[in-house]
Amino acid sequence: MADSKILLHICCGPCAIYPLQQLQGQGYEVLGFFYNPNIHPLQEYLKRREGVEQVAKRFGIRVIYPDEEYDPVLYMRRVAFRENSRCLLCYQLRLEKTLAIAKRGRFSFFSSALLYSKHQKHDEIASLARDLAGEGSVSFLYQDFRNGWRQGIELSRQWNIYRQDYCGCLYSEFERRKGLLSRNKG
Ligand code: SF4
Repeated sequence: MADSKILLHICCGPCAIYPLQQLQGQGYEVLGFFYNPNIHPLQEYLKRREGVEQVAKRFGIRVIYPDEEYDPVLYMRRVAFRENSRCLLCYQLRLEKTLAIAKRGRFSFFSSALLYSKHQKHDEIASLARDLAGEGSVSFLYQDFRNGWRQGIELSRQWNIYRQDYCGCLYSEFERRKGLLSRNKG
């Protein structure tokens, strides 16, 4: 396929499986980009990174891991005092960077494995990515990867890929676990 180079932002291993199946099946030449300064804490970042490495090996793709740019403070500053809009700001941080790298590498397209998750704000991600791309040299490739939700889960289990139980940031971890506080009382 002409003009087939795509930079795929990857948030974690399980979310990448179905998008990679689809994109490779459609003839795209995929390079992954694991850029997620929202993930808290560092150990969690490393576990998700390892999951991405395992998935990348299965698909035979290369992934860029800009670990030197894993900077949770950058994420915290981006959302500070605007926590109610934090997801949009978090998507923006990650997609802006993905687009910048795609431009630098002269890719034809960029996209994100975030479009696989039923837990993410799908339409906001798509609209934001379209706005960021504008009429520029790198187009946003939209696909509704949620169609493969069950398939991605099953393969991630079969392949024993680390599956997280919260979205990624400190806020989401607290929301997931705050029940522990009441259980520990009395
Ligand atoms: S809940 Fe998820 S998408 Fe929203 S800010 Fe936290 S890590 Fe980002």
